[in-house]
Amino acid sequence: GTSIPAGGPPRAHPDIDEILVSRDEIAAKIAELAARVDADYAGREILLVGVLKGAVMVMADLSRALSVPITMEFMAVSSYGSTTSSSGVVRILKDLDRSIEGQDVLVVEDIIDSGLTLSWLLRNLRSRGPASLEVLALFRKPEAITVDVDVRYVGFDIPSAFVVGYGLDYAEHYRTLPFVGTLTPEAIARRA
Ligand code: 5GP
Ligand code: MG
Ligand code: MG
Repeated sequence: GTSIPAGGPPRAHPDIDEILVSRDEIAAKIAELAARVDADYAGREILLVGVLKGAVMVMADLSRALSVPITMEFMAVSSYGSTTSSSGVVRILKDLDRSIEGQDVLVVEDIIDSGLTLSWLLRNLRSRGPASLEVLALFRKPEAITVDVDVRYVGFDIPSAFVVGYGLDYAEHYRTLPFVGTLTPEAIARRA
């Protein structure tokens, strides 16, 4: 019969414990989301607002999968306090370079955990008078439902584990992994 090699099946990356969403699943989902966005915004132009740094991969792939005309802007925000959980008190590290007044804005996010950062960001952006304001997030954790943020496009609902890859980091590493997965305890301890 088939035998599993000693030490178990080969790992996709030595620091990854388990892959939650594969490269192919991400690619298929981006195409599916892009088709929905294209249909919803037909005849209009979208201003994509990416939230640095986690959303860079989604932004790069989504923007190229869209058929409707787009422009892009980026914002960087930071929660005060702990780095592992969000406080909801947010500071703008890099603001948009131009006005969004009267424009159809689609915020592009990597992952929504508590939803506190996004909730603050949406209030901030809404005050600038866009014609419309929607959110696309590739991943969402169960905690996100506790905060009342209306996310129009969600890629994957995932368990509340800490994940890395496809833009998501641990101590600024692992963003370039083509899949999303959990880290081994050893990898977490190494950079803790
Ligand atoms: P929230 O305010 O929704 O709790 O989280 C805001 C930000 O925390 C996300 O946009 C993301 O940058 C980061 N974050 C939340 N969950 C994870 C995770 O599992 N892994 C990584 N690498 N970052 C996360
Ligand atoms: Mg983010
Ligand atoms: Mg991070």
